[in-house]
Amino acid sequence: MAQPQPRPGVMDIPLYIGGESKIKGVSRVIKLSSNEAALGPSPKAVAAYTDVQGVLSRYPVGDYPPLREAIGEVHGLDPARVICGCGSDEILNLVCRAYAGPGDEVIHTTHAFAIYEIYARSVGATPIAVAEKGITTDVDAILAAVTPNTKIVFLANPNNPTGTYIPKAELTRLRAGLREDIVLVVDGAYAEFCTAADYDSGLDLARETTNTVATRTFSKIYGIAALRVGWGTAAASIIGALERLRAPFNVSIPAQMAATAAVLDQEHIKKAQAHNTKWMGVAVQRLRGLGLTLRGNQANFVLPEFPASGPKTAAACDAFLRTKGIIVRRVDGYGLPNALRMSIGNDEETTALLDAVEAFMRQP
Ligand SMILES: *Cc1c(COP(=O)(O)O)cnc(C)c1O
Repeated sequence: MAQPQPRPGVMDIPLYIGGESKIKGVSRVIKLSSNEAALGPSPKAVAAYTDVQGVLSRYPVGDYPPLREAIGEVHGLDPARVICGCGSDEILNLVCRAYAGPGDEVIHTTHAFAIYEIYARSVGATPIAVAEKGITTDVDAILAAVTPNTKIVFLANPNNPTGTYIPKAELTRLRAGLREDIVLVVDGAYAEFCTAADYDSGLDLARETTNTVATRTFSKIYGIAALRVGWGTAAASIIGALERLRAPFNVSIPAQMAATAAVLDQEHIKKAQAHNTKWMGVAVQRLRGLGLTLRGNQANFVLPEFPASGPKTAAACDAFLRTKGIIVRRVDGYGLPNALRMSIGNDEETTALLDAVEAFMRQP
């Protein structure tokens, strides 16, 4: 019997799989699988969120002026060149919808965030995975992969799930080496955690060039992942294209109110940064002390690599951690079968995690 058929390619799109949050039979889990905020949101964001009861029957103002102004103020950006989305994921999606289609190529790196491939495929474009060097973006490899069909290059800096980054000079060299009609997207989901002195989140490039989009999220350090808010900034011409494609009321009023309060509370962000830097240092030292290889440490997670065979594999460690109620992230799907991605949690969670990994490594 005839039945509706999705467009060609739709059924080839991999399903995005988020970090797990439950273990069967365990009532209190420690969830370190989605890089959520260790300290939660600013109390001011929570207060703003709970303040919306009187306006629930109203549509949001379409382009969320207070939120864009707050973002502009904190980051030194023109609010007219800021677009908000249902998570920064939506901005990444809009860029694909605006600039790529069938026959076009969208470049990302081999261990890049899975969403880039998914959104490239969703518009019928061809995702091109470019090899990394030491699980880090290789600018020369990206430039060598460019063809006349290339429309977009996605780069998370720092990257998830590797935690590695490229310095400002490399980012600038990448932009300069790409054709002017290619959109470079610098995804700064973890920008606030990065402590490297030569780091750059792409905001300057987005301000100064006509072809760079920088994105940020409220889901990670800002701690309001549940509300789904992210944003991007770029030249007015790009923002104008994305604005035409987004849904009219894509960010709900509660989300706008919480995000506005969250971005204005930079004191809370400083605390969260200090917490992350402290525990990143502890985690790196303790995990290396167990003989594990660690590379990127510029976000809010670590990615220890385990032996490929024998009793101490990543899969065995994952199973062991689950018996302790701890959920981390398997990253086989990212081409990293021997690693586990472990988010930095609060004091108790991170201590429990590191103790458990140590117990696993020390058991016979
Ligand atoms: C978590 C994450 C995002 C943010 O997603 P939201 O849709 O804003 O919640 C974007 N990029 C990367 C690399 C991430 O890890």
